[in-house]
Amino acid sequence: LIEVETVDGIKEIAMERVEALLKQAGDVSSIRPELADRYVRLAWKIKTRYNLRLSRGIKRKFCRKCFSYWRLGVSCRVRVKSGKVVVTCLRCGETFRTPMPKNGPEKR
Ligand SMILES: [Zn+2]
Repeated sequence: LIEVETVDGIKEIAMERVEALLKQAGDVSSIRPELADRYVRLAWKIKTRYNLRLSRGIKRKFCRKCFSYWRLGVSCRVRVKSGKVVVTCLRCGETFRTPMPKNGPEKR
C-alpha cells in the first residue's frame, strides 16, 4: 500500500488505474467484450469519483453513454466530417464529435 498525502498524488494514482483498466479492456475486448465493458465501467467510476480529466485518446476508447469498449468497425464507427471526428457507438447509437487532432488522424 502506498501512502499518498496530496490530492494530486491520489489523482495521479487514480489516473494510472483508469489507464490500466482501459488497457486491460483493450486486451480482452476481442475475446471477452462483456469483460471489456466491465473494465470500462470500473474505469469510469474511478474517473468520476476523483473528478479526473481524461485525455482525448482515452475518451475515444469507449462510449460515455452505454460504456461499451469501442472496437473500430465492431462496436463503433469513425467518420471525419467537416474537420471533426465523428464517432458513432454501434451499441447505443450515440454520436460523439471531437475536433480533428492537429497532427492528423490517430494511428496505431
Ligand atoms: Zn454507446
